Amino acid sequence: MCDTTELECQCLDPKCGVEVFHETDIGADSMAGSFSNVSLFDCRFCGSRWLYCSINEEVFSRPNRWYRGPISMKQSRTVIPEYAAELLAILPWYFYGGAVFDTNGHKGSGPVSIHPEVNQTEVA
Ligand SMILES: [Zn+2]
Repeated sequence: MCDTTELECQCLDPKCGVEVFHETDIGADSMAGSFSNVSLFDCRFCGSRWLYCSINEEVFSRPNRWYRGPISMKQSRTVIPEYAAELLAILPWYFYGGAVFDTNGHKGSGPVSIHPEVNQTEVA
């Protein structure tokens, strides 16, 4: 085995599969306009911890968008689903992807969008 994995762990690939991680579900917020799944991901190889959030819009029955950002152990102890979007927004960077973005994984930063592109005029 060469040592290159120490430099570039699989978890640093935005397109890596969820099998790279041990998932701890910390709950979901059923309210509209929030993440439908929030989990902590621990990398099986380097031990780094990630905050993973996804939104499944059931009308499309597909994972519409997801975010995965590196967080500290301290941050992970206090994170709650309602705070997940705010925590992602203050991270230096995160990965994101999904059908909404038409990508399997890109690097980004800044505020995250948790609101589906709803047609407001449908609300009668
Ligand atoms: Zn890793």
